[in-house]
Amino acid sequence: MNISISRSITSRLSEVDFNNLPFGRIFSDHMFVCDYENGAWQNPEIIPFQDFSMHPASMVLHYGQAIFEGMKASKNIDGEPMFFRPELHAARINASARRICMPDFPEDLFLDAIHKLVDIDQGWIPPQEGSALYIRPTMIATDQFIGVKPSSTYRFFIFTCPVGPYYSAPVKLWADTEYIRAAMGGTGEAKYAGNYGAALLPAQLAQEKGYDQVLWLDAKEFKYIQECGTMNIMFVIDGTVYTPPLYGTILKGITRNSSIQILRDAGYNVVEKQITIVEVVEAYENGTLQEAFGVGTAAVVSHVSVIGYKDKVLELPPLGEREVGEFIKASINGLRSGKVKDTRSWVVPVGNQVAEPA
Ligand SMILES: *Cc1c(COP(=O)(O)O)cnc(C)c1O
Repeated sequence: MNISISRSITSRLSEVDFNNLPFGRIFSDHMFVCDYENGAWQNPEIIPFQDFSMHPASMVLHYGQAIFEGMKASKNIDGEPMFFRPELHAARINASARRICMPDFPEDLFLDAIHKLVDIDQGWIPPQEGSALYIRPTMIATDQFIGVKPSSTYRFFIFTCPVGPYYSAPVKLWADTEYIRAAMGGTGEAKYAGNYGAALLPAQLAQEKGYDQVLWLDAKEFKYIQECGTMNIMFVIDGTVYTPPLYGTILKGITRNSSIQILRDAGYNVVEKQITIVEVVEAYENGTLQEAFGVGTAAVVSHVSVIGYKDKVLELPPLGEREVGEFIKASINGLRSGKVKDTRSWVVPVGNQVAEPA
């Protein structure tokens, strides 16, 4: 399918201060839009960034059929824009779509769309190392109908935001024994909008206790560790790296997958197994808990400084001793910048996709 392109007449780029970018509030000049009607995706186009007008009965507003992806394009040390494992994002949005009863979006069209969109707006990729153009593919239900059923029409769109070097302060996690993120058979594996709405109250209550994010435990026994905030979690205990396995309630993070491969290739022992909060407390108390960190596209690695669980407060070792988390961060940022050799073909050039207008 051919993507039609209509460029914006003026650019807002000159109004943007790249040294002072609030996360997720600045939007680049163009967006990709494609609608699903009569059983097929129709008329893919790149257009100037603009508002949508919506019917008040649009089904997404009532029954929540909305899914998304989060990925980044960044410039390497030669100034070339690059993606990181984009095909995994194209595949994952369709895994999410199937769970929420939405149609697949063709993966080749997804990739064509991000290549062309980022090529056109590549001036919006901040040049500083660690900065990026954050890319947000989204799919919503658009039938104008009040009645609970899958919509028969959808809109798929992609917009982008320049984001600064994501300095992530170490996070304090509250292991919640009242609220859950995901249960077996639920939607936890999908990047589904409803999961994030449901997580707001527990996160707010954790913040009122002085924590930053929730360390999610399993829905049945409040025992097995799942994820933290919107990141996958890893622990280093006595030299071994542990992370929960993907068994239906945990988002299949691409950073998690990359981290495991990078660590194993470097000779680390990485074990995917169910890990209980009590095991983490015991490791802390016997002095073998060395690191805990979240992994995800936005920050790559966020170190955990404190874990609160019931009446216990675990104060983790100082940041200077976080060898494994720092190794992952340096490896992934190094692959993106081109300072680390990409032996796995994870880094994909955006390439010259669209001729400059005459
Ligand atoms: C997006 C997300 C992650 C991280 O996935 P990446 O592909 O590494 O960005 C982890 N957990 C949740 C709940 C997420 O939404």
